Amino acid sequence: MKIYNSATHQKEEFKPIEEGKVRMYVCGPTVYDNIHIGNARTFISFDVIRRWLIASGYEVTFAQNLTDVDDKIINRANEQGRTAAEVAEEFSTKFIDVMHRANVMDPDIRPRATKEIGPMIGMIKSLIEQGHAYAADNGDVYFAVRSDPAYGEVSGRKVDELMVGARIAAGEEKRDPLDFALWKAAKPGEPSWPSPWGDGRPGWHTECAAMVHRYLGCPIDIHGGGSDLAFPHHENECAQATCCWHEGFANTWMHTGMLLVDGEKMSKSLGNFFTLEEVLEKHSAAALRLLMLQTHYRSPLDFSWERLDGAESSLARIAGTVENLRWAARHAAGNPDVAAADALGEDLAAFGRTYTSCMDDDFNTAGAIAAVFEAVTRANHYLEDTQARDAVDEGAALAAAGVLANWLGTLGIELPEPKEELPVGLLGVAAGLVGYTGDDVDEAAERILTARADARAAKNWELADAIRDQLRDMGLVIEDTAAGSRLKHS
Ligand code: AMP
Ligand code: ZN
Repeated sequence: MKIYNSATHQKEEFKPIEEGKVRMYVCGPTVYDNIHIGNARTFISFDVIRRWLIASGYEVTFAQNLTDVDDKIINRANEQGRTAAEVAEEFSTKFIDVMHRANVMDPDIRPRATKEIGPMIGMIKSLIEQGHAYAADNGDVYFAVRSDPAYGEVSGRKVDELMVGARIAAGEEKRDPLDFALWKAAKPGEPSWPSPWGDGRPGWHTECAAMVHRYLGCPIDIHGGGSDLAFPHHENECAQATCCWHEGFANTWMHTGMLLVDGEKMSKSLGNFFTLEEVLEKHSAAALRLLMLQTHYRSPLDFSWERLDGAESSLARIAGTVENLRWAARHAAGNPDVAAADALGEDLAAFGRTYTSCMDDDFNTAGAIAAVFEAVTRANHYLEDTQARDAVDEGAALAAAGVLANWLGTLGIELPEPKEELPVGLLGVAAGLVGYTGDDVDEAAERILTARADARAAKNWELADAIRDQLRDMGLVIEDTAAGSRLKHS
């Protein structure tokens, strides 16, 4: 399996630190508001990456934090006359809930910044002792960037280039404009915790380094986030952890491309965002995921409602094929064309190999999905051919339906449940049309279809049309195949 390491700008053969096991960390949200689908793109991408690692046989431990103390949370709380803890609690719950709705797996470990103050203070103390950090007179503690000779290794920036335009903002007591806050002295009305440097709260970069070390151990195999986090957030996480523990931090850095609207990054500050919640009210999680995965995770992704509609139709097409394969299997007569079944099986196996090699090539989901679409077309041809000759092979049709659903399931795309159950109202129609008085809906459907076939054979078009119209009023259509007629939801 090859993974693009954004720190080295190369696709590298993936070798976990411990054989068969992967430890990965993906920065979680700052819980001050509902997440938008740009954030969701990053979380869904890493969900797919994690799922593929698991499908490839790795035992994956996945940690993701919740940043539940931060300027944005405090500002939101002040605007709304609530406490920061209340705001953080509300949006943590909403985040977890909407991730479930998007079919994103729960992390194995979900630490919250406010519950990790002790380990963070421990890390900061050690950094001060080792000469990598200093406490300012105002109670802030800063990381001394120039004390870390490897600074810049994650994002590929050079310290001297960073100096251009670097400023010390009012209220900061940095020795060097490049330095960043590990600990921020308490301001009135803000949440704070006691520390050796007075009451205060951790800086944003501090939490992830401390959590990675505490819950996964350094170094980890994969560290991820959106590409906008590479600098300064990931650079700073890495600097703290490597200077504190000298064990390395992350072997592979993975960064997702940004989701764009009309060419611009979707963001809260630009106001060009749709929340994940509102998108999932109108569209299925499966269609949103299909749309996202048709672009490689590192490329920018253009979002539009038209593209999402398109993904919804594609999904319906795949689901339709899977449903048709299952129906054909159930109604297969005892005359299967073995050669056609074998040919289908061989072609699907080839598409399966393409799918796997795409996924093994830096999680090329776009290529993998293209293979699924080709397999759908191939399965449709098989059905057209064998149904016309009443030569469907039950096992082959079921196996094809199974692999299509599996390939998508591995990507976290759940096909919509087939609307297989026929409506109970059919009993009334059957009673009126053919005098059927039982309570078996499938039997009622069979009787109605037989009555229609008889009516057509007798050229009683009036009755045949009446049957068709009544069924249509119930949202059902008749599909005629060589294996017999079938009632389907329209
Ligand atoms: P935040 O809560 O702002 O830290 O964002 C949570 C995650 O969403 C981070 O990994 C960001 O990099 C990511 N993110 C933010 N905006 C976008 C976007 N427009 N497209 C993709 N990922 C994004
Ligand atoms: Zn982080």
